[in-house]
Amino acid sequence: MLIVMEAHATAEQIDQVCRAVAELGYTAHAMPGPTRTAIGITGNNGPIGDADRIERLPGVRELISVTAPYKLVSREFREADTLVQIGSELGAAQPATLGGAAVAIIAGPCTVESREQVLAVAHAVKDAGAVMLRGGAYKPRTSPYAFQGLGFEGLRLLAEARDATGLPVVTEIMDAETLPMVLSCADMLQIGARNMQNYPLLKAVGRSGRPVLLKRGFAATVKDLLLAAEYIMSEGNPNVVLCERGIRTFDDSARFTLDLHAVPLIKQLSHLPIIVDPSHASGRADRVVPLARAAVAAGADGLIVEVHHAPAFAACDGEQALTPPSFAAMMAQVERIAAAIDRPLAQPANLTLASPSAW
Ligand code: PEP
Ligand code: MN
Repeated sequence: MLIVMEAHATAEQIDQVCRAVAELGYTAHAMPGPTRTAIGITGNNGPIGDADRIERLPGVRELISVTAPYKLVSREFREADTLVQIGSELGAAQPATLGGAAVAIIAGPCTVESREQVLAVAHAVKDAGAVMLRGGAYKPRTSPYAFQGLGFEGLRLLAEARDATGLPVVTEIMDAETLPMVLSCADMLQIGARNMQNYPLLKAVGRSGRPVLLKRGFAATVKDLLLAAEYIMSEGNPNVVLCERGIRTFDDSARFTLDLHAVPLIKQLSHLPIIVDPSHASGRADRVVPLARAAVAAGADGLIVEVHHAPAFAACDGEQALTPPSFAAMMAQVERIAAAIDRPLAQPANLTLASPSAW
């Protein structure tokens, strides 16, 4: 159920409606929009018994029942696109925005391997126009014998790369126990494909309030993805960005099958930004750039791309890493494709350098 307030409704009236919802035993989520506030109700398993009482309160325009199983993430709940701001909390010098008109490019190594590597790649992707740095410190690997990431030291190196470049950092969180540590470094928390349905973890990042990059599980439907996002939002965190990164199909000629249809579909179903990861989808550097181009053409709000200064020596996912020159070439191409659909590439915000983080 969604309560739409009048455009001139006062803060006191909005408050009164939220209190009435709470008295009925449900949770109210006030969502200010460009012209009016909408208040979402969750916690009900069917029609609200006492809906009339709410409808009669001052400032209420109408009650709309939401048919989708996900509520807070749905377009029915919020018509305008959500913009997610990343990077101001920990003092990144150039906060980034995902969603909205500009297409934002996130890039960096699969895994943080060394100080030299992460700084080289961070500077290279920044010079080519990326607005955020990616890099794993805790890696979910299919084999327990594969490199698992540098852990805490990886986080420290990512914070150093943020201070050196100004780029906000997104890194994966694998379990709720490491959340406090990851929160001390990450401007954005990545939930990987393997954890998309780890509900306790979704709730924990929801409670943290930090922006979340939620990757689609490789056996997850679009509905599963949106319901996973609902877990995060229902804990009070509106800063969720979705990511299509390929799903498993009968075809094993690529690492995964990139489901680009999900991009326009999610745009219709949800107000949340949706970005695409062409690197894990294809698994091969020579096919990453065409997929990146197609994703931007399909309407993605951004890309997350793996880049390594020496892919042959990468500890993880070297076969799919772009080199800095091929990444720069990709940027020039996607900029032209974005322009064809009237979208600019996101530019760094260029704030004056904040004090370095406490590392
Ligand atoms: C990653 O982005 O580093 C990663 C492991 O991706 P995914 O969870 O999509 O496999
Ligand atoms: Mn990877």
